[in-house]
Amino acid sequence: MTNRDKFGYQPIPLCDGHIHITFAHPVDTTVKILDDTMTWYDCERIAILGLQQDSKNTADPGNNLKALYCKSRLNETYPDRRVYAFSGIYHYYDVRDTAEGYLAQAKALWEMGFDGVKILDGKPKMRKNLGRRLDDPIFDPFYAYLQEHDIPVTMHLGDPPEYWDINKISEYALKVGWYCDETYPTLEEMRGEVLGILDKFPRLRLTMAHFFFLSQNLEACADLFTRYPTLCFDLTPGGEMFENFSKRPDDWRAFFIRFADRISLGTDTYNYDLHDNPADYGNGADLARTNLVRKYLEWREPFTHPWYGTLNPLGLDTDTLTKIYRGSMIHRLGEPRMIHFSAAADNLAEMRKLHDSGVLSGDTEESKLLERQNFDTMMTYFQKGNDQ
Ligand SMILES: [Zn+2]
Repeated sequence: MTNRDKFGYQPIPLCDGHIHITFAHPVDTTVKILDDTMTWYDCERIAILGLQQDSKNTADPGNNLKALYCKSRLNETYPDRRVYAFSGIYHYYDVRDTAEGYLAQAKALWEMGFDGVKILDGKPKMRKNLGRRLDDPIFDPFYAYLQEHDIPVTMHLGDPPEYWDINKISEYALKVGWYCDETYPTLEEMRGEVLGILDKFPRLRLTMAHFFFLSQNLEACADLFTRYPTLCFDLTPGGEMFENFSKRPDDWRAFFIRFADRISLGTDTYNYDLHDNPADYGNGADLARTNLVRKYLEWREPFTHPWYGTLNPLGLDTDTLTKIYRGSMIHRLGEPRMIHFSAAADNLAEMRKLHDSGVLSGDTEESKLLERQNFDTMMTYFQKGNDQ
């Protein structure tokens, strides 16, 4: 029994391009969680998006390497599955951030065998901390390198428009500090920065996560896809997007059919430790993002979601679903890249230094201890492994 059997979904294996492993576990536990997650959700392929810093200003300098480690461990165990690893980037948030430094990060991640890059700096709080535009010239050599090497980029930009409105923002978002007052750039300004990147690097293989938070404006989405032929969106909730789609289901169905090659599955599934009860992955609004996406795309009758109310689903045909669930990601990523173990070991040593010196490190003694153990586990593996 898997999630597909439980809900009667179509028998299409999934390629989930948006998985995170930011919960603090021994890294081998994370490998097992991902293994169980793939089995339960019928995932044939997943992309793990590394994040060395997040919007709550916590740092996990080993997170990229954990993504690479999980990729390696799972791919050597399951020849019929494909696991990809995307690398985050990190900042010092001071004069140590330089164009050369960002370029060096791009070169290092590509040499190690990552399959793409994840940029989270468009999350409003991170963009504010960054203190510079996302298309600032400091990033030009970095993006030029990504474009030159055809490196896929998944970028988070913005948040739901309600987060800029104190009267409309949800209680949860307010509580976790995601309200954007006048000290933040507006959503429109930040979108302009992404277009600034694309105008400089028009062949950049950019996927905007969460549908670019643009699901309230179908015409703008169509216009962007037409103007920028390499631009894609992923469907990672942002559950508000399904509320917006639900207002014009017929128009959005036509849009999804027309642009199925440019839209890919993502879920923001994390390394939740559910021990030996993988069926629990499908329970609870927070854990059930895959089900929100699948129900919305596949089902034909309106259904109720605890957070988003009554949703009018698209009931897409098998062909369109197959493109969104598999084709878009396989076309974008090809086969997982070979891992260069000695380069990974070198980078791990560098990240460990940043961690141990406190430049980038978790905030509690307990988390530091766990991370040291994780660095040891990964170092042993990368040092003795042969390139694969
Ligand atoms: Zn994410």
